[in-house]
Amino acid sequence: MNDTTEKKPRAIALLSGGLDSTLAISIMLDLGVEVEALHFMTIFCNCTSARRQEGCGSEARRVSELLGVKLTQFNVTPEYLSIIKNPKHGRGSSMNPCIDCRIFMFRKAKEYMLKTAADFIVTGEVLGQRPMSQHMRAIRLIERESELEGLVVRPLCAKLLPPSIPEKEGRIDREKMLDIKGRSRKPQIRLAAEKGITDYACPAGGCMLTDKSFGRRLKDLLEHNPDAGMPEMRLLKYGRHFRLADGTKIIVGRDESENNKLEMLGKGYLKFQVADRLGPVTLAPTDAREEAIKFIAAITARYSQGREKSLLLIRSWDNGNEKFLEVPPAHDEEFARWRIE
Ligand code: SF4
Repeated sequence: MNDTTEKKPRAIALLSGGLDSTLAISIMLDLGVEVEALHFMTIFCNCTSARRQEGCGSEARRVSELLGVKLTQFNVTPEYLSIIKNPKHGRGSSMNPCIDCRIFMFRKAKEYMLKTAADFIVTGEVLGQRPMSQHMRAIRLIERESELEGLVVRPLCAKLLPPSIPEKEGRIDREKMLDIKGRSRKPQIRLAAEKGITDYACPAGGCMLTDKSFGRRLKDLLEHNPDAGMPEMRLLKYGRHFRLADGTKIIVGRDESENNKLEMLGKGYLKFQVADRLGPVTLAPTDAREEAIKFIAAITARYSQGREKSLLLIRSWDNGNEKFLEVPPAHDEEFARWRIE
C-alpha cells in the first residue's frame, strides 16, 4: 500500500483546555492526524478563565471548536474519589496524587481509544514540567500501569523521549515534533503566537489538589471523615474552614457568592446568619452541641457588618426549624487557631 492510499492515523487527545494540550492537538493536526479530544471533568479543576468566568469544561469546548475537533467530556469525580483517598503512588507537594491521577486518566483514554478504534493517545505533557508526573521514570511507570506502552505521543517533547509505536511505524513524523522541556512556559507561549492561538486560559494548568491551602482542608476532611464523598469535597472549595476544639467543623462564607454556594450546597447542615445585617452564611453539623452552637453563632457575628456591636441576633435554621439566639461577636484570638488554612 502506498502513502496516498494509507488511512490517516487516528488519535485520542487528552484535552484539559489549557495551552499545552491545545498545542499538542494543533501539532497533530498539522501532521495529518485525525484527532478526537477527550476531557475528564472533576470537581477539583480550577482552570477558570478570569475573563469568561467559566470553568474547565467550557475551555475544552472552546478549544475543540477553535481547532475543529470532536470533543467528548466525562465527569469522572465519583470514580476519582478513591484515588484521592488512597493513592498507590503517593502525593506531590500538596494532596495531589499526580501519578495515580495520570494512570486513571490514561486507562480511561485507552478504553475510549479501543472503543473508537483509534491508533494512539496524544497528550500535552512536557518533560520535566511537573515534578511528580512528568519526569522520565514517572512517564514510563504511567504508561506501563495504564498498559499503553509505546502508544502515547507527546508532541511537545517527543524528540526527548524514546520513539512511540506510531513514530517507529512512520505514521507520524518524529522530526516535526518538538523538544520542549522544563517549567518555563515561554516556548509554548511563543509557539501559540506563531500558530495564531492568542486566547488561552490557564497556561499553567489548574488543579486544586496542588493548592496548599485546599490540600490542608482536604487532609483535615479525610482525617476526620474517611468516608467523605462528593458533597463534602465540593464544600472544600468555598469559605473559611474551622475545626473547633471539640472536633466540630464549620464553614463561614467570605462574600455573597460564597454565601449563595454554601446555602445551595449546605442541605443537611445547620446554617447561621446574622438576623438584621449583612454577614456570612455559616454551615455546621446538625448534631453540634449547645456550647458549640453559641460559639459558632459568635464566630458568624464576628464576620458580619455588626462586629463592633456588643450583642447580635443570630438566626439559625435547618430544614424549616428556625431559632434565634443573641451572642457577642467572638474575638479573633478565641478561634483563629482553629482555622484550617
Ligand atoms: S495536577 Fe491534578 S489533574 Fe494534574 S495530574 Fe496532578 S492530580 Fe491530576
